[in-house]
Amino acid sequence: MKVLVCGGAGYIGSHMAQWLAERGDTVTVLDNLSTGHRAAVKWGEFLEADLLDPASLEHAFAGRFFDAVVHFCARSLVGESVQEPYAYYANNVTGTLNLLEAMRRHEVQRLVFSSTAAVFGSPICDLIDEEHLKAPINPYGVSKLMVEQILADAAVAYGLRSVALRYFNAAGALPQHGIGEAHACETHLIPNVLKSALGTGPALKVFGDDYPTPDGTCVRDYVHVQDLAQAHALAIGYMDTNPGTHAFNLGNGQGFSVREVIAAAGKVAGRDIVYEVAPRRTGDPATLVASSRKAREILGWRPTWTTLEPIIESAWRWHRDQRF
Ligand code: UDP
Repeated sequence: MKVLVCGGAGYIGSHMAQWLAERGDTVTVLDNLSTGHRAAVKWGEFLEADLLDPASLEHAFAGRFFDAVVHFCARSLVGESVQEPYAYYANNVTGTLNLLEAMRRHEVQRLVFSSTAAVFGSPICDLIDEEHLKAPINPYGVSKLMVEQILADAAVAYGLRSVALRYFNAAGALPQHGIGEAHACETHLIPNVLKSALGTGPALKVFGDDYPTPDGTCVRDYVHVQDLAQAHALAIGYMDTNPGTHAFNLGNGQGFSVREVIAAAGKVAGRDIVYEVAPRRTGDPATLVASSRKAREILGWRPTWTTLEPIIESAWRWHRDQRF
């Protein structure tokens, strides 16, 4: 297949490109390099283009054929989205509309969309399945839910086939392929823990230890980025026989607290990881754990990184030995 990976210079997008190239697909990466890395584009042709610049998009689609588009381009920091909502709606909604319009003009009928657990807002039960109430509590989550709605409308109006994949906490790396997580401004727990263990990041803070969880710290569902890539590849095939729009939650179905992550990272790194407890971070729900039964049953998704330590170990080797 010929697949366009929008945002393929980013963390999850680069792992997607690796997965597709390994299974024999022809990959084209489109990225504006605002947060992605040129060095992460190791598979396929690279097109520097911006979804907010329809002319550069037109240039990318003209004269090329794609069986499907996998779309990762987005701004994705919850706190930042509260501070800069216009930038989030412009990038995540208007940018996606421009991409959809280019796909329509060039008759590309299949899209896998990178959505998020943030579309659910504060969970009302322990295990979040696809039917859970969608009530996002920040502009980032709203922007992703708006796109999911646009995809439903596009299915009716234009026959677009789409699958939205709602990730819980993407984690891990593929150091053997030279790719991993590298954000200029790192906010995520696992990279912050590992950078603190290496002495390359600021002192580690645990945001709140008075949550209603077993050890008082937030519980999250960490899913390896390679398993996410596998799910996207399956979603492309799923659209062959399933028109319309679909959504699946992707997680391991098992929650780990911030303290458990720090303890596991300490074991992997072979050193004590020092941290201080800080006030809660705005917008953090106590627990977010996915039910991925639907993805397993319908897509045939089989995550291979099912325990926490190997996930952290892959990230540790990336942060210790490489990084962009
Ligand atoms: N967290 C933390 N210290 C950090 C980064 C994150 O205590 O330096 C906590 C955060 O409050 C949340 C959990 O770790 O409870 C996971 O946060 P992350 O930003 O990795 O992912 P999110 O769940 O927000 O998407």
